[in-house]
Amino acid sequence: MRIYKCACAARTLLWRRPGTTLLFLVSLTAILVSLATAPFPEEVDKPAAAPMGNRLTLIDPGHGGPDPGASSPAGMREKDLVLDIGLSLRDYLEDAGCTVLMTRESDHDLSATPDASLAERKRVDLHRRSEIIEASGADVVISLHANAVPSSRWRGAQVFYRPDRGPENERLARSIQQALVDITGETDRDINITVDQYILAQTELPAVNVEVGFLSNPRDAELLAEKLYRKKVAWAIHIGILRYFARAGDNGTTRRDINAWKIAEPCAPS
Ligand SMILES: [Zn+2]
Repeated sequence: MRIYKCACAARTLLWRRPGTTLLFLVSLTAILVSLATAPFPEEVDKPAAAPMGNRLTLIDPGHGGPDPGASSPAGMREKDLVLDIGLSLRDYLEDAGCTVLMTRESDHDLSATPDASLAERKRVDLHRRSEIIEASGADVVISLHANAVPSSRWRGAQVFYRPDRGPENERLARSIQQALVDITGETDRDINITVDQYILAQTELPAVNVEVGFLSNPRDAELLAEKLYRKKVAWAIHIGILRYFARAGDNGTTRRDINAWKIAEPCAPS
């Protein structure tokens, strides 16, 4: 669309003022180069006209603090990479005008029980995340994780949802999965159902679990170690969310009193 506008402008300028031809062509080249090097512009069908200001997304980067989650053979930890992707996702959504809350924005758990056993901290952590999610009343809940399985052959980002929580979960999952397929070019997986993920089981809000790749697969682990690829994954998820919002057909749920929502004092990083 922009390129067509540029072409029209070029014809007008060249016809009226031939002396500006060289300057204009230099400018046009600069514009095209900047478009070509901007983050993933050619793959994006961004519904910028959709009303996003009233939309609340809750991002839940899994694990944190004493719970590293899965690890790659090279030692990359799930808790670190999902936090990194979550922070980029937050920034992209905020740039699009959405309101974003996160269950954590640094390396800590939410247990607030530093002297408890790891199992007890994990139990309290998950319970606290669920409380935050329910208190938020978010339009969408995005839980971020990375997969790891005994076999190294499985790879690709995949979105999981609960089918027994209404049709919105599947719609959201499908929108994000399609964006991951289109934009990363590194997954051909389809959405899948899950019934045992605690966070999804505890909420009635539209919620999905995005497994951003397999740390047990060499190619996925190599990609996820790259900052640019993690940003690309975040970009894809945000496009999937925006498309979901754009197709929802309303302005979102009533804006919540965000200031009344307080996160628990986190434990010190450990
Ligand atoms: Zn996980």
